[in-house]
Amino acid sequence: MQLSLGPDPRSDTLRRIQAALIAQFGRIVRPDDKRRDPVWTLVQGVIGARTKTAISNANTDRLLERYGNWEAVADAQEEELAELLRTATFPALMAERLKACLRRIVAERGAVDLRHLSNLPTEEAMAWLETLPGVARKISAQVMNTSHFHRPALVIDTNHRRVIQRMGLVPPRADTARAYDTLMPVLPQEWSAQDIDEHHLLVKRVGQTLCRPSRTDCPNCPLQRDCETGREAA
Ligand code: SF4
Repeated sequence: MQLSLGPDPRSDTLRRIQAALIAQFGRIVRPDDKRRDPVWTLVQGVIGARTKTAISNANTDRLLERYGNWEAVADAQEEELAELLRTATFPALMAERLKACLRRIVAERGAVDLRHLSNLPTEEAMAWLETLPGVARKISAQVMNTSHFHRPALVIDTNHRRVIQRMGLVPPRADTARAYDTLMPVLPQEWSAQDIDEHHLLVKRVGQTLCRPSRTDCPNCPLQRDCETGREAA
């Protein structure tokens, strides 16, 4: 006979964290009109390495304005793309990655079109996205969760990952894919795609303010009670 292990205690921890973060920072809900087309979201992720979100958003809009469609971006000269992406942290590398990514989609789908993903389960759609050059787990989750797809997939960026590593929710050296695989199965079942998005935005806020790479402000952090590192510092 197989014994039921019952609910994972980390689900309750995540519920508690969410409530504490909303109490501290207020609600951070992405309005529907900020959800973009999945291809736009993919491009924004591919060109966004180590670049502020606002700059990557503006660069993505600039590319579309300049070329009119993503197929034309795929055919553009890399040097010209790099010039348009000059405000990114690594313009030449971003141009190379973007071109490779878009050309692969054209080669496989005949156009820069991700509509086929809407017929696939989230995990399969993410696995397909991760076969594209320049696309790893953060970007695949971003496309599924923050675009019009609006699927339950947890985006984990550098700030988010640092916080959950220090808290002990994922192993200390877990990369983004491992952190994702650890947390996705224990997210509270009642959380919608929007709740999952808000969770990411709230934890990211901790990483941007209280839990910096070289400085932590544990006494003022609402996560201290549930945080291995924070409890040691108390
Ligand atoms: S309690 Fe300290 S280590 Fe833990 S998440 Fe907050 S700031 Fe980071």
